[in-house]
Amino acid sequence: MITKSLSDDHGLDIDMLRSRYAAEKARRINPKRSAQFVEVSGQYKSFADDPSSVGVSPRAPIEEDIDVLIIGAGFGGLLAAVECIKAKIGNFRIVDKAQDFGGTWYWNRYPGAQCDVESYIYMPLLDETGYMPSEKYAHGPELFEHARRIGHHFDLYRHAMLQTNVQSMTWQEDERRWVVVTDREDRLHARFVISASGPLSHPRLPGIPGITSFKGRMFHTSRWDYGYTGGDHLGGMSRLKDKRVAVVGTGATAIQCVPYLARDAEHLYVVQRTPPTVGVRGNKPTDAGWFKSLPPGWQSARMANFNAWTSGVAIDEDLVKDGWTALYDLLTAGMPKDGESITPEEGAYRAEVFDFMKGEELRARVDSIVTRPDVAEKLKAWYGVMCKRPAFSDAYLASFNCENVTLVDTEGRGLDEITPDGIKVGDLEYPVDCIVFGTGFELGGSTGRSSHFPIRGVGEELLSEHFANGVRSLHGFYVHGFPNMFMIGNGQNGFKANYTDMAIEQSQQILHVIAMAMQNEFTRIEATAAAESDWIDTLIEKSQAVRAGLEACTPSNFNGEGDVERSFIANTYGGGPIEFSKLLSDWRADGKFAGLSVE
Ligand code: NDP
Repeated sequence: MITKSLSDDHGLDIDMLRSRYAAEKARRINPKRSAQFVEVSGQYKSFADDPSSVGVSPRAPIEEDIDVLIIGAGFGGLLAAVECIKAKIGNFRIVDKAQDFGGTWYWNRYPGAQCDVESYIYMPLLDETGYMPSEKYAHGPELFEHARRIGHHFDLYRHAMLQTNVQSMTWQEDERRWVVVTDREDRLHARFVISASGPLSHPRLPGIPGITSFKGRMFHTSRWDYGYTGGDHLGGMSRLKDKRVAVVGTGATAIQCVPYLARDAEHLYVVQRTPPTVGVRGNKPTDAGWFKSLPPGWQSARMANFNAWTSGVAIDEDLVKDGWTALYDLLTAGMPKDGESITPEEGAYRAEVFDFMKGEELRARVDSIVTRPDVAEKLKAWYGVMCKRPAFSDAYLASFNCENVTLVDTEGRGLDEITPDGIKVGDLEYPVDCIVFGTGFELGGSTGRSSHFPIRGVGEELLSEHFANGVRSLHGFYVHGFPNMFMIGNGQNGFKANYTDMAIEQSQQILHVIAMAMQNEFTRIEATAAAESDWIDTLIEKSQAVRAGLEACTPSNFNGEGDVERSFIANTYGGGPIEFSKLLSDWRADGKFAGLSVE
């Protein structure tokens, strides 16, 4: 029986909420789905230029035979490198196009950049490096510095090939090697390749007319031009004091930089298509006494605690106690308690009611902060709270109380045009000097465009063709026809809210396989076609429970902009990260390399 009284108890008008959510979704559907965005290439190529680069350091081309090549030097790639060292594999290389380690934190230097999962669980290897984060949510430069610390601590820089772009990767069956060619004319013969190029590493722009006609300055948030704005990550952007700036997008990135732009620009226009949910941040300095008191092994225990909490597992203590865990606390409140048996309909109804409750709480927060009721109304999110990446900030909403800040609400349509002098929404043109695109990234792993260079496997098959209808893999790591290649990322495996925790697990799994292969002198490991197909079937079956929710969601990169087949959430393991971890540990314990053909 469905507990209809649940909504009455909480004073919710369920019918009104359902119809409002559906109407808001309907006006946001863009028939072009993910194709509405343009890649930063061709005429837009300069948007990907590195503003931090001090020029390319010359070096001679490298021709080497190596055991492992890691592509990407963000936390994922660095964790894989650390696992190589633990496995006593010393003959490896890390390639990255940036001029230093850091990945996301190398590129994203926008003002206010901050991790939005707690530093104590997001910054990897704190135990090992003996580092204490300065705040519960560390800022970008500290995160970037931590990547460099890991590099120095584990002596990884001697393996690095920086400012180096991979141009092609081709499997040589006779050699049993990947031949990897770079733009520095390197030629690496790698026994194993780990792709850790990150799920969100290629900036994207909205495909709206007129971008190239704009006469002012434009840049993407991940390529912040401090030369133009002045200042640094904490603001003080003195050169903006006589500038009108438009920031396009109101996602997790934009909400971090808006308060700084509001403080420093003469005028700021915030172009909104969909309002974000903005929960409490509650950042605070680290209590050094508490941090010193933590026992060895505390970090992995804390990661596991967060993972369990955000997976709806009933545990006694919430160690992290933040906006994320509070969110899940409410969202999972309706799950069956010990011994309780409920129908799927009852489960879905309860989940909907608790989701609506969270939505009401977040909308009330907008009213409590934003002083102008008409602006507050436009800043309210009317969609399920997990339809988009939830955002947290104690400064974003208050920015709209500043006289120099204008919310340009596009009523779900998006920016219509960029003119030589500004931005246009409907008939209204806003003249601006600078446009900042906080419009996110191509989602690697679900689009099949995760690498921007040709990867040719057995029989010269292109990986992009293998992925033409979506990613295909076993467990998200191994691909049929692409032997000895492993992927780290968030496609087709157990998705965790804490990316670092996920990357640790994945790099450990991959290095387990590589180390076993090397010990046993295997030269070729490849997912079988059957195992790959079975895994796709498993993913489809396991994602049934979330598909209806994703269909009902407002478009976002979570649901493939409304194309659920292409959605990355539907393409992760629907049994959840805890079940997935168990699946991996059982697979390792079994020791038979199930689903892989091994020679
Ligand atoms: P998102 O993809 O999340 O947001 C892009 C924004 O651009 C959305 O508000 C989107 O609107 C808007 N947009 C897109 N097209 C148009 C258009 N034509 N006109 C107007 N607006 C438009 O990108 P972010 O960079 O904010 O975040 C990307 C991811 O990076 C996050 O999901 C998160 O995983 C990660 N992140 C993590 C952080 C951390 O840990 N510290 C901080 C920041 C980001 P709409 O919502 O309607 O699509």
